[in-house]
Amino acid sequence: MKPDFEQALATAYQRAMSYREQAPPPRPLASLAQLRASLDIDLPQRGRAGEEVISALADAVEPGLIGITSPDFYGWVMGASHPVGVAADWLTSAWGQNAGIYHTSPAAAVVEEAVSRWMLELLDLPAAASVGIVTGATMANFVGLASARSEVLHRVGWDLEQQGFNAAPAIQVFLGEEAHSTVYSALRYLGFGQRQLIRIATDDQGRMSAQGLADAMARHSGPMVVVAQAGHINSGAFDDLAAIAGIAAEHRAWLHVDGAFGLWANAVPELAHLCGAAKLADSWAVDGHKWLQAPYDTGFAIVKYPAAHRRAMAITASYLNDAPGDGRDPSSLVPELSRRARGFAVWALLQSLGREGVAEMIARHCRCAFELQQLLQDEPGIAVINHVELNQLALVFGLQGETQAAKDAHAEALIADLQQRNSAFVSGASWRGQWIMRVSIISRTTDSQHIEALAQSIISAWRTRRVT
Ligand SMILES: *Cc1c(COP(=O)(O)O)cnc(C)c1O
Repeated sequence: MKPDFEQALATAYQRAMSYREQAPPPRPLASLAQLRASLDIDLPQRGRAGEEVISALADAVEPGLIGITSPDFYGWVMGASHPVGVAADWLTSAWGQNAGIYHTSPAAAVVEEAVSRWMLELLDLPAAASVGIVTGATMANFVGLASARSEVLHRVGWDLEQQGFNAAPAIQVFLGEEAHSTVYSALRYLGFGQRQLIRIATDDQGRMSAQGLADAMARHSGPMVVVAQAGHINSGAFDDLAAIAGIAAEHRAWLHVDGAFGLWANAVPELAHLCGAAKLADSWAVDGHKWLQAPYDTGFAIVKYPAAHRRAMAITASYLNDAPGDGRDPSSLVPELSRRARGFAVWALLQSLGREGVAEMIARHCRCAFELQQLLQDEPGIAVINHVELNQLALVFGLQGETQAAKDAHAEALIADLQQRNSAFVSGASWRGQWIMRVSIISRTTDSQHIEALAQSIISAWRTRRVT
C-alpha cells in the first residue's frame, strides 16, 4: 500500500474514533459565518498532502456537525449510522466498486440479491417482489410510483415506454392530505402536477380517511394509483391499510405505500398489527438510514411486479452486458447507472443485528415513546397531541385560556431553549394549525435513561418559561 493511502486512512480512522467516542454535541457549535470562514477557502494552486487535508477537513467540519449519532438526538426522523454499517461503508469506498451492473461488481450484485430477500422477509412483503437499493425514501417513492404509472397504463393497452406520457390516458392519483412532501416531489418528477392530485381528507392523527377514499374513487374511472402512508412524520400514525387496499382492489388501482420508517414495524412481532396489511399493496418505499441505522444514503424501492419495476427503470445499451443467467443488474431497478454499492453496509448491518437485534431496537424506541408520554402527561401545560403507537411524539405547551399564538410561541421558544442547552435535540413543525415540538425516538442507543433526562429537560424548560 502506498504510504499516502495508509496515512490518509489512519488519520480518518483516528478522527472518526475521537468524534464518535466523545459523544458529539447534538447541536452544531459553529455559525454559518464561522463555517464559511473555515471551509470556503481558496482553491490552492498546488495540492496539499492527503493526510494533512484530512486533518484540516475534520478540524473545519466537526464544529458544523449535528449530533445525529448521539442518543440524545430526537430531531426529524433520522438514524444514527450504526458502527458496523459505517465500517462496511469504509470498505465499500476502499473497494471502489461501481454497483451499476453485474459485470461492474459481481459481489455487489449478489449482495443486493441477498439483502433484498432478507428485507422482504423482515418486512413481511411478498417474496417475489423486486427490491432496488436507492438513496432514500424520496427515490423509493419515485421508483414505486414510476412502476405504478407504467403498469396502470400497460393494463389499459398503453405502452408508456414507447408511446410516452403526453397523449396517454389520464391517470387519477389519490393520496392523503398529509402525504409526505417527497411523495409530491416524486409525483412531480413523473409529470403529475399538484392540482391534478385528488387529496383525501385526514383525521386528527394525519390518517387518510378510507371512506373519503372510497367516495372519491367511486367518482372516477380509468387507470388509478393510490398512495397510502405507514408512519406519519409527526404522529407516527398508519393509514388503515387493510381498508385502503380493499378499496384500491375494487377499482383495480395500484396501491403504493410510503413506509419510510413506519414499515419497519413489521419487523417487530408486537407491532406488526400496525401495518401487517401493507403486504396487500403493490409497491413500497422504506428507508435504510432511518430505523435500520444504515449509513446515509440508503433506501429500498420495493415493487410487487418485477416486470413493471424493470420496465420503468431499465437502462439498456450494447456496452452494458447482461448479468449471467438470472443474475441481477442492480441498475435495472433504480434510476442511476453508476452507483454506490450500498448493499455491502446493509448486508453487514443485517448480519450483525439479526432479526432479534432489529426487533429489539425498534421495540425499545417505541417503548421509550410511551415512557416519555407517561413522564410528561401529569405536567400542567404540556400535552401530547398524538396517539403514541410508534416512536413519535407531538407536544404542545400552554395553560387554559392562552391563545394559539401564545401556545405556538411557547413551543418555538422551548425548542430553541432545549437546543441551546445542548443536552438533547428536538425539532418543530406546524401541524394541523399549531406549532408542535416533535420528538422522534429513533437513535440506535437511545433508552429509558435518555428519555428520563429528556423529560426532565422539557419539564424544567417549561417551568422556567411559565414563571418568566
Ligand atoms: C423521511 C421520509 C421520507 C423521505 O425519505 P428520505 O430518506 O429523506 O428521502 C418520505 N416519507 C416519509 C414518511 C418519511 O418519513
